[in-house]
Amino acid sequence: MTTAASTTVFEEIESAVRTYSRSFPAVFATAKNESLYTADGSRYIDFLSGAGSLNYGHNPEPVKGALLDYLAQDGLMHGLDFSTSAKAEFLTAFRDLILKPRGLSYRVQFTSPSGTNAVEAALKLARLVTGRTNVVAFSGGFHGVSTGSLAATGSGYYRQGLENTLPQTTHIPYPDSPLGKFDSIDLLKMLLEDPSSGVELPAAVLLETVQGEGGVYLAPIPFLQDLREVCDQYGILLIVDDIQAGCGRTGSFFSFERAGIVPDLVTLSKSIGGYGLPMALLLIKPELDIWRPGQHNGTFRGNQLAFVAATAALRHYWSDGAFAEQVVKKGALVQECLERRVESRFGAEVRGRGLMYGIDLSPVPGLEASKVSRLCFERGLIVETCGRDGEVLKLLPPLTISQVTLSTGLDIIISAITDLATDAECGSTTS
Ligand code: PLP
Repeated sequence: MTTAASTTVFEEIESAVRTYSRSFPAVFATAKNESLYTADGSRYIDFLSGAGSLNYGHNPEPVKGALLDYLAQDGLMHGLDFSTSAKAEFLTAFRDLILKPRGLSYRVQFTSPSGTNAVEAALKLARLVTGRTNVVAFSGGFHGVSTGSLAATGSGYYRQGLENTLPQTTHIPYPDSPLGKFDSIDLLKMLLEDPSSGVELPAAVLLETVQGEGGVYLAPIPFLQDLREVCDQYGILLIVDDIQAGCGRTGSFFSFERAGIVPDLVTLSKSIGGYGLPMALLLIKPELDIWRPGQHNGTFRGNQLAFVAATAALRHYWSDGAFAEQVVKKGALVQECLERRVESRFGAEVRGRGLMYGIDLSPVPGLEASKVSRLCFERGLIVETCGRDGEVLKLLPPLTISQVTLSTGLDIIISAITDLATDAECGSTTS
């Protein structure tokens, strides 16, 4: 095998911390739209989309041209937080195509380009604004792995060994989880009303409206509306982490639009940069924008190529409602297919919205999501697992995926589940 196609160098010198390369052991070289190709020419359909960073697929033509033009004209590449033409165009497009049509007037803060840094900024700002330290987050929530965001992340896997270093956060159950439905609002109100609850009045409540890493659990609309009300009543800031569920993933640009609520702070990353280029944003209600210049900074807050790609993506996909409608339509197809061919046949639970779906295999005896994922990979599909014990298969196809490829990907999943379920029934140990 040539060096370009061999995994030896990764095993030899890349840190043990690597993950996706273990689940999907191939050397990828090129990619287009919904497919990746290995150095030795094999094709894989992508139902992972860079963990939600490639909502417009790999190397989308409407964005590529803008990037090539920018490079050809020697556009500024590194800009700290200078005012640049590329940033001006992005801010204008974001204001005119995303914020204004939704009646939103957020200020835009560019943080360091990982999602976790946008969460750090949100938590820091909420604490500065309110003068309080505690934050309420939800069990099963994932917000990143730097210290501040990790404190809000529920996962025992990521917290293990660091628990004592994680600052003040109170976790309460999400309204849906492997343990069933829960009245989170009732508990939150009790904790806030009881002066002896032992829980300090929080600066903020932080949540994903659809928990991604936690297992694709959806917050019900009445819960989101009640949460907004409780936050208003107690002067608590509501932070929606839209890093995974935002940028159209759930069928609207922001995941919270379905509840008609306006969070005080919103984090965005992953697909906002377009083309997989790193960018992260904190959206701030204007009256909360009390930062002193440079108080939260970073050398790489000005990825000009990400601005160019994001502007092209916003203009191409979000100038009207047609793209979101397509996402909703494709999502309905996925839901119908999975309910009919997976839920009713095997007893798995299907949850999701837009093009963010989870197939929870925990109710199916003998069927492990990791084995399904592995078999899918052998058959040419990349699909990852999530959930407390990796028991959920998570489907994040590019929002631009063609219906034909979407169906092919679903067929691969269903045939893998069928084959492994048959093996499990027959007591086979070969898988
Ligand atoms: N918040 C959510 C909801 C996420 O899904 C993620 C990453 O998966 C993060 C925050 C952290 O983003 P990053 O990995 O870019 O730091």
